[in-house]
Amino acid sequence: MKPSSSAATPNTTRSLVIVGAQWGDEGKGKLVDLFASRAERVVRFQGGTNAGHTLVVDGRKTVLHLVPSGILHPGVVCAIGPGCVVDPEALVRELDGLNAMGVLSPPERLRVSSIAPLILPVHRALDQAREQRAGAARLGTTGRGIGPAYEDAVARRAVRLADAREPEHLRGRIEALLFEKNMLLQVLGAEPQTVEAQFDAVVAGFARLEHHLADVGAETAEALERGAFVVFEGAQGTLLDISHGTYPYVTSSSTVAASAATSLGLGMKLFTEVLGVSKAYCTRVGGGPFPTEMEEPLGTKLREAGQEFGATTGRPRRCGWLDLPALRLSARLNGMTALALMKIDVLRGIGPLQLCVAHHWRGQRWTVPPAEPAFWRDARPELAEVPGFDADLRGARSLDALPGAARDYLARIADEVGVPLRLVSVGPGRDENIVLDD
Ligand code: IMP
Repeated sequence: MKPSSSAATPNTTRSLVIVGAQWGDEGKGKLVDLFASRAERVVRFQGGTNAGHTLVVDGRKTVLHLVPSGILHPGVVCAIGPGCVVDPEALVRELDGLNAMGVLSPPERLRVSSIAPLILPVHRALDQAREQRAGAARLGTTGRGIGPAYEDAVARRAVRLADAREPEHLRGRIEALLFEKNMLLQVLGAEPQTVEAQFDAVVAGFARLEHHLADVGAETAEALERGAFVVFEGAQGTLLDISHGTYPYVTSSSTVAASAATSLGLGMKLFTEVLGVSKAYCTRVGGGPFPTEMEEPLGTKLREAGQEFGATTGRPRRCGWLDLPALRLSARLNGMTALALMKIDVLRGIGPLQLCVAHHWRGQRWTVPPAEPAFWRDARPELAEVPGFDADLRGARSLDALPGAARDYLARIADEVGVPLRLVSVGPGRDENIVLDD
């Protein structure tokens, strides 16, 4: 790819928000890494260590959970915004891992919001205890404490790294937080947590991260106003959005593009381009409705071909046919200006392909899902069969190099979703892409 070409971002573009158009794991990390090469700054704006971005560079695999995927580019500043939930222990481990790989992270290369709500040991314990207690009704969370940490943020109880500047104040906040949390843990049959364990986690994290702490919103606004190119890195996916996703089987943050503006406190006029990232098929990890889920043995075949196992938890991902109505919804919710389709190579040899063109629910044909929870549970997909292909696509660098069936598949998707296709990924490597200009 030539990220400096007009590709998905005209040269006049100063900001690019990259969001998942499905249920996460679409391959956003690879795209952020690609665009980061010409960015001054890459900013994560929501989520936490529930994300897992697998990058393959020079055949070497790296999994990032919280650090933005631009970190592999030496000149790029990476930032974790105040809309993220920061697990200080996990972040320090991630930094240690990056340092061991020789990826330098001097303070000016990684900026961490001093006011992002923290994930403490109690949040992880509560997430896991709730899931265990729920049994078959569990949500299938990543167990990383994401939901409980966001709950505390909204309840005005969160602890933030800035609190560690005043240890007595920090201790008081932790005591207040544990008062209710320990009652909950006990009811759920889990061990109560100590003030010391939370306090030590914050103090140790602060000691390692202090030089990275920053007013990430203000720094990002300054960069944009100066005309620098900034990439905003979304995590999870649109259908996991706390308001617009397949509630309650969602994550606890706002995953849509506008969340970059609200969480960082940036004016809407600073945003122009929104790149939605979708696989050429669908996957979902964890519980929840999935109308186009494939039957066996096809699901297993695709899972193996696409290595569809969670980068964070190792869980096998559920696989399904591409859901065009869901993509149309995602295009609207994000104000998508361009579409990237990932992993088309994985569909090789799958046989005739199916595309979900509409859903049937309550006697109606829906080409865009309505905001009704029962829709997702009961919708019956209308599948259109389209020809598959057997050729290896990984060497293709232009649409002309693709077999006709793959070309038709891509053209139909872009046409049905109504968003221009700007990039097609044909393999996990950095340069295994077809870049499309206007
Ligand atoms: P939580 O974000 O850990 O609370 O999990 C809530 C739901 O979001 C579960 O179904 C998770 O599997 C899903 N989820 C969270 N993060 C990711 C991700 O990065 N990729 C895919 N699914 C995710």
